[in-house]
Amino acid sequence: MGKIAINIATGSIQKSDTIVGIDLGTTNSLIAIVREDSKQATALREIDGLTLVPSVVHFDAFGNPSVGVQAAEKLILEPQNTIYSVKRLMGKSYKDVSKESEFFSYKVIDDNTDALVKVQVNDQFYSPIELSSLILKNLKTRAEHILKTPVNRAVITVPAYFNDTQRQATRDAGKLAGLDVLRIVNEPTAASLAYGMGLKVDEEKTIAVYDLGGGTFDMSILHIHNGICEVLATNGDTYLGGDDFDHAIADYWMNIYNIPADHTLKQNFRLAAEAAKKQLSHSEHYEASVGDYQLSLSKEQFEQIVMPLVQRSLDCCAKALQDAQLSTDKIDEVLMVGGSTRVTLVKESVKKFFGKEKLHDELNPDEVVALGAAIQADILSGNNTEMLLLDVSPLSLGIETMGGLMDILIPRNSKIPNKASRQYTTHIDGQSSMRISVFQGERDLVKDNRELASFNMKGIPGMPAGLAKVEISFLIDADGILKVTAKELRSGVEQSIEVTPKYGLTDDQMEQMLLDSLSNAKEDMQNRALLEASTEAQQMLDTVARFLQKNLAMLNEEEHLLTQKQMDILKESIEKKDKNLIQKETEQLNEITRPYAERLMDEALKDAMRGKKIL
Ligand code: AMP
Repeated sequence: MGKIAINIATGSIQKSDTIVGIDLGTTNSLIAIVREDSKQATALREIDGLTLVPSVVHFDAFGNPSVGVQAAEKLILEPQNTIYSVKRLMGKSYKDVSKESEFFSYKVIDDNTDALVKVQVNDQFYSPIELSSLILKNLKTRAEHILKTPVNRAVITVPAYFNDTQRQATRDAGKLAGLDVLRIVNEPTAASLAYGMGLKVDEEKTIAVYDLGGGTFDMSILHIHNGICEVLATNGDTYLGGDDFDHAIADYWMNIYNIPADHTLKQNFRLAAEAAKKQLSHSEHYEASVGDYQLSLSKEQFEQIVMPLVQRSLDCCAKALQDAQLSTDKIDEVLMVGGSTRVTLVKESVKKFFGKEKLHDELNPDEVVALGAAIQADILSGNNTEMLLLDVSPLSLGIETMGGLMDILIPRNSKIPNKASRQYTTHIDGQSSMRISVFQGERDLVKDNRELASFNMKGIPGMPAGLAKVEISFLIDADGILKVTAKELRSGVEQSIEVTPKYGLTDDQMEQMLLDSLSNAKEDMQNRALLEASTEAQQMLDTVARFLQKNLAMLNEEEHLLTQKQMDILKESIEKKDKNLIQKETEQLNEITRPYAERLMDEALKDAMRGKKIL
């Protein structure tokens, strides 16, 4: 018989613990679960009716933290002690965020290194992981309070473009908050789950998820097939959201009244602007007085003000479609996520862009990601076993090979989990170790890409160059975390690392890397061809030099001179960096030396036969 747990605090019988879904947002976070009775996903609501918890942490003079509404109230009064948008710092170094540092009114430590950023409050230093864990701890406590049961396991969502470090950081924040993070799920994937898409096995659909929140915009294109949800492409703008609408409206009023941009009134105007924006979703006119100022805004004026911002989001949609190589008529459904999609102009513009009569906006756009996370949690609880989630790796992953070339094992936008392996060999006789450097990016040369990690594979038994067979395997798990394994197949020597890079890529950098790879494609190809030719030539030179050292007696004077001369010509051609010339001279050296190889084989055969009888 099973045991029954009794909650000592409440005296009630304890239910088996629920796995919760958490949307850890830039502006707001929330928790949802699938209700046991109704089997419906619902956002957890406090008695005050609130589901959203502002993702804000405030520290008092003694360093005691508070989270949520209470902390958000301190944003204006105590900007140095009140941390918002910590999600923007997750898994990043100061170098990554230095350009954005003006955005933060609290102190982000500028150590100008690749180490992960820290935030300073009074004389204390906090990592973004610690700060996020405070938010998660608050959410956990809230959930335990509402559900009256311990909450120890969670599914947490992250943007689809989050890289390895950012996912790891999120997972670590969960761990620090006392949560076993069972899965990290992409936000758009969660949204489509919330709309029940992908739950039927025979369903095939292409879905666009338009996610416009308070501070960020994300566009993702998903493909659902055979119960597998795959992210085809992502695009977005990490500094575009409802807050920008508020700013634009406030600026408009400040202009009318000729108030300087840095005036303290701006804050009050912004609050009025947000109220105006919300009201204009369901009325034609807004009016309010702030101090001595009479503020008014018509829906038409509002739409004119925010149109350029909406257009920026549509430009991202166009880029995502281009990346996925799809036209709008191939999109079956468009899902609206994030509070700012309540704006009528946003809905209408997105409808027009995708040529749709109807969008999916039936669910509360603030809650939809958390609801999806709850459904994923329910699947992991074993309540729904048919569904499998596959996400996408946003940049190609590969290793450095001879001449600094990038050898891609997992191409960008590949689905995850994923596994790929390839065999490599040594290029020096008796080579006993091999440096394995893992890179992320689209360029042909590793120096233009981002190094994620590197390790030395040691203990390869000595053997002639080219004989060792080192198999390198990449495994990206369902959370998008990469593990690299290297195995020498002849000896079985094996080594592996989980890739936990020192720093992440900023979204701008990621975009830049993709752009660079396109604009430099031709140059990259030429460089690659030249490097390949030079590497091959150099290998040929090494081989011939080794041969001459060991077997000089096998050649006559003339042959020796001819070979030596051709080696010099080949060396010169490498210096000239002319690919065609290098190839021609390599071939020439090959021609000259081919008979020697045959002679060598004959010798070896004779040696082997000597003293042996032929049956
Ligand atoms: P999120 O980050 O998804 O929670 O979105 C928050 C953003 O949605 C903020 O910029 C809010 O001002 C905005 N928002 C919330 N409700 C409305 C509404 N009724 N109309 C327009 N924008 C809204």
